[in-house]
Amino acid sequence: MASVTLSGVKKRFGALEIIREIDLNIEDGEFVVLVGPSGCGKSTLLRMIAGLESITAGEARIDGKVVNNVAAKNRDIAMVFQNYALYPHKTVRQNIEFSLRLRKAPKAEMDRKVNDAAELLALTPLLDRTPRALSGGQRQRVAMGRAIVRDPKVFLFDEPLSNLDAKLRVEMRAQIKALHRRLGATSVYVTHDQVEAMTMGDKIVVMRGGEIQQMGRPIDVYDAPRNLFVAGFIGSPS
Ligand code: ADP
Ligand code: MG
Repeated sequence: MASVTLSGVKKRFGALEIIREIDLNIEDGEFVVLVGPSGCGKSTLLRMIAGLESITAGEARIDGKVVNNVAAKNRDIAMVFQNYALYPHKTVRQNIEFSLRLRKAPKAEMDRKVNDAAELLALTPLLDRTPRALSGGQRQRVAMGRAIVRDPKVFLFDEPLSNLDAKLRVEMRAQIKALHRRLGATSVYVTHDQVEAMTMGDKIVVMRGGEIQQMGRPIDVYDAPRNLFVAGFIGSPS
């Protein structure tokens, strides 16, 4: 587990200030949801936490260490995206173990981790299939398996469920939360879906135009929105 801290973080693309100055503290083991309309800067912020995007001003730290001062391979994070690009010609097992192979993990360790992850995600019967023989939900679980075997201290999710149909989305929300309870890793979860935010977040961070409008427990934000934007965004159905 690890804490995630943003202090005075800004991002500019050319003349455009996309992230305006964000301070945010995420505690060890917390599940925090960044929620806001499309284009408000959620993915950019997440990518800065991951060290995938340079930071114009301020700092992002994981466990007290400035992200950009840590070599990419030593950053204990794993990202799960909306477009979970799996290797189409590799089996589920090969997809899940790919990062371990890159790290030259011993075979026994690799097998144990892949089998444990498959068990956890109910993928054991599917390990020898290729992704094209899987449903959308199963593919998303393979993408999570790929993330889990790396034993990350921090999980970063960027709208992982938005390609799934409504029913599956509801199921997967519960699965991701169950996984979080089981693994306890600090999680930052991005979505534009207020229902997803309300049901999944220990804490939610409501964003608009590159700024934090309000953060707190979902129930507190819902009961006492700080302004009309938050009231409208959290209150209205998706
Ligand atoms: P969200 O994930 O909340 O939809 P993004 O973080 O993807 O928002 O984007 C925030 C804003 O930054 C958008 O207006 C987007 O067009 C802009 N943006 C994102 N990436 C770049 C980039 N590489 N160059 C210029 N503008 C970008
Ligand atoms: Mg985005």
